[in-house]
Amino acid sequence: MEWDSHFYRSTLSYLDRAAQALNLDANIHQRLKRPERALIVNVPCRMDDGTVRNFTGYRVQHNDTRGPCKGGIRYHLDVDLGEVASLAMLMTFKCAVVGLPLGGAKGGITVDPLTLSRNEKQRLTRRYTTEIVNFIGPDIDIPAPDMGTDEQTMSWLMDTYSQIKGRAVPGVVTGKPVSVGGSLGRAEATGRGVSYTILEAAQVTPGFEINDKTTVTIQGFGNVGAATAKKLAKYGCKIIAVTDVTGGIYNAQGLDLNALFQWVDEHHGVKGFKGGDTITNEELYRLKCDIFVPAALGGVIGEKEAKELKCRIMAEGANGPVTPEGDAILRQRDDIFLLPDVLANAGGVTVSYFEWVQDISAFFWSAKEINSRLHEIMKRSFQEVWTLKQSLGCDMRTAAMALGVKKVSDAMLARGLFP
Ligand code: NAD
Repeated sequence: MEWDSHFYRSTLSYLDRAAQALNLDANIHQRLKRPERALIVNVPCRMDDGTVRNFTGYRVQHNDTRGPCKGGIRYHLDVDLGEVASLAMLMTFKCAVVGLPLGGAKGGITVDPLTLSRNEKQRLTRRYTTEIVNFIGPDIDIPAPDMGTDEQTMSWLMDTYSQIKGRAVPGVVTGKPVSVGGSLGRAEATGRGVSYTILEAAQVTPGFEINDKTTVTIQGFGNVGAATAKKLAKYGCKIIAVTDVTGGIYNAQGLDLNALFQWVDEHHGVKGFKGGDTITNEELYRLKCDIFVPAALGGVIGEKEAKELKCRIMAEGANGPVTPEGDAILRQRDDIFLLPDVLANAGGVTVSYFEWVQDISAFFWSAKEINSRLHEIMKRSFQEVWTLKQSLGCDMRTAAMALGVKKVSDAMLARGLFP
C-alpha cells in the first residue's frame, strides 16, 4: 500500500493485538487497517528571496464513523504518507478512548519549520489550506496544531478558510488564539491530561507517591513537554532532566523551571542553560527517575532504550514514541507502568473538542469548567482502560487500543456497510 512504512506497520501491530484480545469481527478489522481517504498535495511557496519552492502536503482521514475527523497538522522533515496515515489511525482510537464523537485524521507538510521565516511559514500555511479546502470543514475534518505548528499557524488556516468561504468559520480548526474563537486551556491541555493520567497511574502503583521527592525526566520541551513539566511541578515533583532538539540539561536537585522557561523563550532551546549539566537523549533514557515523559518524536524508544529505562511510570506525551521491538520489552517489564499515547496525550484532542463545541454553539466556557471537565474525562478514561486491562489480562497499550477499537467497531456494526 502507498502508506506502508515502518511507522504504519507498528501502529497496525497494535491494532492487530487489540483485535486479537477482543476477538474482533474480521471484516471490521480489515476495514480499520486502511485509512478511508488520503490526499497528497503540492504546495508551491514563494520564498523571501523570490524563488518558488515546492513542498509536499498531506491530509489523511482514517475513520469518520463516530463523527467528523479530527487531528493535528505537523511540519517536520520526517513527514510522509506513512507517518501521517499512522497518526490518523491513532487519532481514531484516541478520540474513541476518551469518548469523543469524532473520527481520526492527521495532516502535515514535509518541511523543517525552523528554516522558514514567519512570512514564508504564513504563505506555506495559506497555500496548503487552499489545497485541502474541500477536504476539511467544521462538520467534515477539523485540524489542530502538532509538532512544528502552533496557534498562529491555526489562525492563518482559519483565516484562509474563512476568506474562501466568505464568512468567519472559527469551527474549522482548533488550537487557535482565544481572540478568534480559541478555547481557554487548550495550549496546556495535552500536558495537563498527561499529568492527570500520571496521578491515576500512581494510585494503582504500589508504594508510588507523588510528592516533593518524585523525580521526572522529559524528552521534548515544546507544547506537550513544557506544559507537563509545569503541571507536575505544581504537584511538587522535581523535574531533574529535559532534552529538546538543541540538547539537554540535568540537575539532580531539580531544574529551576521559571529560569528554564525564560531561557528557552530567549534562546529557542534548552541548550546552554546554566542551571544544570548537559545530558544527551541516550543518557536521559538511562537516568534513574520516577516518571519519564517522552514528548517529542515517534519511534525513538527501541529495544535497547526500553531495556535501559530506569523509570517507574512512563507517560507517552508523544505519539508513537515506542517501536514494536521496544514495546515487546516494555510488556515484559512489570517494574514500569506504561501510560500509552492514545490515553496519556488525549487531553489535547479533548479540549480541542471543547473548543469545537464552543465555536459551533458560539458560547464560551470558563477555564475552571474546561479544566474540571478535562480532569473528569481523563480520570474516567484511565479507569475504563484499567478495568479492561484486568478483564482482558493484557498490557496497558493493548487495553487502551482495545477500548478505542471496541467503541469504533460497535459504531461501524450499528451503522452497517453502505450500500
Ligand atoms: P512542539 O513542536 O511544540 O515540540 C516538540 C519538542 O520536541 C520541541 O521541544 C523539540 O525541540 C523537541 N524535539 C524535536 N526533536 C527532538 C529530538 N531529536 N530529541 C529531543 N527533543 C526533540 O510539538 P508538541 O505539540 O509538543 O508535540 C510533541 C509530541 O506530542 C508529538 O509526538 C505530537 O504528535 C504529540 N502530541 C501533541 C499534542 C498537542 O496538543 N500539541 C497532542 C497529542 C500529542
